[in-house]
Amino acid sequence: MLTVSEALEAILREVDPLAPVSCALGDSLGLTLAAQVRSDLDSPPFDKALMDGYAIRSADIRSAGTELLIVDEVTAGRVPSRAVESGQATRIMTGAPIPDGVDAVVKVEDTETVGTDRVRILAAETHPEQNLIRRGTSMRSGEVVLEAGRTLRAQELAALAEMGCAQVSVRQRPTMAVLATGDELVPVSETPGPGQIRNSNETMLAAQIEHAGGQAVPLGIARDEREHLRQWIQVGLQHDVLLLSGGVSAGKLDLVPSELERAGVEQIFHKVRVKPGKPVWFGVLRRKSDSKNGLDGGRNSCLVFGLPGNPVSSMVCFELFVRTAIRRLSGHQDAKPQTISARLAHPHVHNDDRETYFPAAFEWSAEGPAVTLMKWHGSSDLQSTRHANAMAVFPAEPVEYSGGDFVDVILW
Ligand code: AMP
Ligand code: MG
Repeated sequence: MLTVSEALEAILREVDPLAPVSCALGDSLGLTLAAQVRSDLDSPPFDKALMDGYAIRSADIRSAGTELLIVDEVTAGRVPSRAVESGQATRIMTGAPIPDGVDAVVKVEDTETVGTDRVRILAAETHPEQNLIRRGTSMRSGEVVLEAGRTLRAQELAALAEMGCAQVSVRQRPTMAVLATGDELVPVSETPGPGQIRNSNETMLAAQIEHAGGQAVPLGIARDEREHLRQWIQVGLQHDVLLLSGGVSAGKLDLVPSELERAGVEQIFHKVRVKPGKPVWFGVLRRKSDSKNGLDGGRNSCLVFGLPGNPVSSMVCFELFVRTAIRRLSGHQDAKPQTISARLAHPHVHNDDRETYFPAAFEWSAEGPAVTLMKWHGSSDLQSTRHANAMAVFPAEPVEYSGGDFVDVILW
């Protein structure tokens, strides 16, 4: 049986980023850049004032109270009409281009006007470059400002806007079908009869997909019956990814692995040494003209995950395996789950030979990152995740932890 880390490697071997698409800048929040972006201009594009005040020559200021002749005024969006000579000043506003001859701006609070056309500089000296920024200081024309693989947040969008990128080349969001399987399931809107439960996994997985950057396509419920399952698998295989929930264990009606293989999906692994989620299944449907690794924009392949039906298993397997696939499809450079180290807030006896992902509450305490384990009654206990914002990771061997010991944590 594969370890979690081996399973993650196996997934990454099968997944390549999706084809780039052009996207309106305003719609690209959270997407990943498909190509590097170079600046088409210097920023700032001209030497500019950082304060409202007077543009002057610093060498003119030798003692407090120096008076200068005001020769011009320039506001943001205008350009100076003349240079500043020795003994002169130009009244200037924040963001306006500085006149030739100037090497400093004295802020208005440090001056007083004398009559209508003179200004008194109150300070005894002024430093060259004070209160101004030179052309190209923050970014140069031709410079690579954003690398491929960068996730677009507000600050990246602002940089792209500054560079005039109304359209950006990004990785498209994978479309991901969600198919819940199980004769016990009824839609969320129905009241379960004897032996039945609501299909909560579909809603949960769709939310996880959206949160991870995919587009969820819920397909509803497939019965534990070969013909019915087969039809819905065919629908799901039209997408970049098909997630099935349930039907991957060793029960009599766990038909998912055999029906996937019958549909031509090549099994990459079945079962991982992980708790919860041991029965997890992963495979790839390769269509004709597909290269070995090849997911591409023509949707020649479909990645298929069979997630165990118990909700916490589904949730954890999604966070470990499916999210990693989505991040790679979306072009992230570092697709695997990121861990941070946190102190256990209490003692804990870990007694398992499977790597365990334990629902937990992470917080930044006064002593640094801290983690508290939830009360957890196993893989069916969805309520254990309600106050959790992380999973604490325990190794594939028994360990007794004291409060304050460090453990790895993956944030949800
Ligand atoms: P399975 O993996 O199909 O053996 O399912 C294991 C258990 O998970 C079932 O007995 C249900 O209690 C639960 N389960 C399966 N599918 C779902 C679902 N879509 N929503 C909520 N719980 C589910
Ligand atoms: Mg089932």
